[in-house]
Amino acid sequence: MAKAGAPGTSPFGPKMCAPVIMKYGSDEQKKRHLPPMLNSDLIWCQGYSEPGSGSDLASLRTKAERRSDPSGDFYIVNGQKTWTTLAQTADWIFCLVRTSNEGKRQEGISFLLIDMQTPGISVEPIITADGNRAGTQEVNSVFFTDVKVPVSNRVGEENMGWTYAKYLLEFERGGNPYSPRLRSGFERLKRLASSMPEGEESILSDHAWREKLARMDIEISGLEMFEMEFYSKLASGQNPGPLSSMIKLRGTEVMQQVQEYAVEAASWYSMPFPEQRAWNANVEPIGPEGADVLAPRYFNGRKMTIYGGSSEVQRGIMSKVMLGL
Ligand SMILES: Cc1cc2nc3c(=O)[nH]c(=O)nc-3n(C[C@H](O)[C@H](O)[C@H](O)COP(=O)(O)OP(=O)(O)OC[C@H]3O[C@@H](n4cnc5c(N)ncnc54)[C@H](O)[C@@H]3O)c2cc1C
Repeated sequence: MAKAGAPGTSPFGPKMCAPVIMKYGSDEQKKRHLPPMLNSDLIWCQGYSEPGSGSDLASLRTKAERRSDPSGDFYIVNGQKTWTTLAQTADWIFCLVRTSNEGKRQEGISFLLIDMQTPGISVEPIITADGNRAGTQEVNSVFFTDVKVPVSNRVGEENMGWTYAKYLLEFERGGNPYSPRLRSGFERLKRLASSMPEGEESILSDHAWREKLARMDIEISGLEMFEMEFYSKLASGQNPGPLSSMIKLRGTEVMQQVQEYAVEAASWYSMPFPEQRAWNANVEPIGPEGADVLAPRYFNGRKMTIYGGSSEVQRGIMSKVMLGL
């Protein structure tokens, strides 16, 4: 058996690392970057979005100008990325940059791999609604000022980055299974609902609640089928295609529904005063176990239908690719 982390292996088994997944990039790039990526020795972040270029990603303006000197060929990168998840801890960033303004916007974009330690890169936290309390910093702005990137760090051909980025998004959108997390969230929700009193019984005896939970159970089962299809496609070397948009769309929307029902079930217990939640407040949380995290989780979960392409964008892809509209 191949050593874990060796090139061409994957924690999910050899087939999950089939050539179709690692379709782009030179052999040299694969050899250098895949093993530490698989071992989590090096952390990567994604530099696609820019201020004003989110859903309309092809409008991105971070510029890479090609130059050369005695040390070789390189790009000089200038611009800004935004919403970059965990850029504060990342060692590398994969970046979409503009290398041409000729022709269609999509045809002037290239895909660069950039070491975050390169001079000229700075990272600033974006303060989110929770105030980025200790340990909660998630998103950042990343600034590039005259950042020198070797041409050998470009994936594939110049101006073909859009094709590679779209391909990668197919895997990002479906490659993070939702159904196991949804199942456990659903089981927690049922336990919570059965512990919340309504008269002599629990709210689970309420017909409307039972119907809501039954619908959710069916949704999760449906998603499990889609996800099994996704992984069987990967195992047989196929692209997921628009199936990943379906999974992203339903996975995130049902996840938000679980979070919403949990807040509804726990009622005011889900919203303790922040002082009561501080580690040194010496106040035991009140209400059912784990209820005090439900409202923060609900608010944090609002992001899920935005990142990786918003729900509207996923619906747009599905209507175009699957329905031909
Ligand atoms: C928590 C979080 C983490 C993220 N992490 C990263 C990251 O690591 N790397 C990265 O590159 N990006 C990241 N993003 C950015 C994310 O991909 C964008 O936020 C997303 O693509 C939406 O772009 P926008 O925010 O510019 O909104 P906009 O594109 O301005 O959209 C605003 C609203 O208009 C709607 N809309 C826009 N266009 C259409 C259309 N054609 N049809 C119908 N409705 C439309 C959208 O659905 C949305 O509701 C992250 C975002 C969040 C919230």
